Amino acid sequence: MLRLSRFRYVAPSTLEEAIRLRTEHLDSSMYVAGGTDVFPKMKRRQFQPAVVISLGKVVRAGISNGSGVGIGAGTTLTAVAVHPKVRDGYRALAEAAHLVSTPQLRNMGTIGGNVCLDTRCNWYDQSLFWRTSEGFCMKTHAEVVCRVATSSPRCLAVASADTVPALIALGAQITVVGPHGAREVLLADCYREDGIRYLTLAPGEIVTEIVLPPSDGWRSTYLKQRDRGSFDFPIAGVAAAVRIDGGVVRDARVAITALGSRPSVVDAGALVGTRLEDDAIAHVADAAHKAARPMDNTSGTISQRKRAARVFAERALRSLRDA
Ligand SMILES: Cc1cc2nc3c(=O)[nH]c(=O)nc-3n(C[C@H](O)[C@H](O)[C@H](O)COP(=O)(O)OP(=O)(O)OC[C@H]3O[C@@H](n4cnc5c(N)ncnc54)[C@H](O)[C@@H]3O)c2cc1C
Repeated sequence: MLRLSRFRYVAPSTLEEAIRLRTEHLDSSMYVAGGTDVFPKMKRRQFQPAVVISLGKVVRAGISNGSGVGIGAGTTLTAVAVHPKVRDGYRALAEAAHLVSTPQLRNMGTIGGNVCLDTRCNWYDQSLFWRTSEGFCMKTHAEVVCRVATSSPRCLAVASADTVPALIALGAQITVVGPHGAREVLLADCYREDGIRYLTLAPGEIVTEIVLPPSDGWRSTYLKQRDRGSFDFPIAGVAAAVRIDGGVVRDARVAITALGSRPSVVDAGALVGTRLEDDAIAHVADAAHKAARPMDNTSGTISQRKRAARVFAERALRSLRDA
């Protein structure tokens, strides 16, 4: 059995206190929300924070109705997946949240934790025993090479959060609060092509809210490839959203995940002005295929996952035409 190492658990009741604690222990602390990713990784010694700061009392759980939708970062994935407004207006998000892992993890896991989810890799997501015997990688040991591509100057671990491409396709913004105050940022701008420093958030910043614009005229969907249909991280994922007015596409966004260290936005401009005809869809599916840069560090093969980007983009966009 894998056991947690000793750590100090603190559950502050204000954002200010949480940020102060994190800032005081910058190199030795972590935030935790549902803990569904943090605690298994602590058991495998992928990281060992001395201080674990719970966000349970400081980030809101709940979905508020306005012209768009505001989702508190503490909202569970189950609550997101079943919320009527999300299911009606933001289907890609409801589908993505529903496809995360298992019911137990969706009942504990939060959307804030999903947005900030660590990257994954076959060389990293292993027990300490396995990594001690096989060798460490640069994600945990800066002096070591990337084991996926030994000449790579950066870590190639993979972006693996299901809700992120859906949120990006839906035009999500997030509110973050940190040592220097609050700010709003487009979610698509929150990720880097770097498996170690995968978030652009500043140290200590907390995601408090996810804000989606009005859904009028928008249709969306999310398709995921994984090993086991019952639960598994994505090894390829495609989210597509189009705004249709008078049968014509007025706006379109496509995003892919699990095909690089950051979720990528695919150029979907070729769809605008069309009625989602097959040739326009094929053009964007080609762009998804080009944007996909899988490495040999998840299950599935590189060619299978790259092909999934094209096939899923086509399927997703056709399903929106026929919706
Ligand atoms: C067996 C298994 C299968 C899984 N399958 C999937 C899957 O298919 N798809 C998928 O997307 N995920 C999967 N996960 C990962 C995880 O369960 C989900 O991503 C979940 O949404 C994480 O949310 P959490 O609240 O538990 O995050 P935590 O584990 O508490 O935190 C995750 C990360 O986010 C940071 N964090 C959390 N909340 C905030 C915040 N508000 N502001 C700033 N930082 C924050 C934490 O510091 C940590 O770095 C799986 C996990 C396991 C163990």
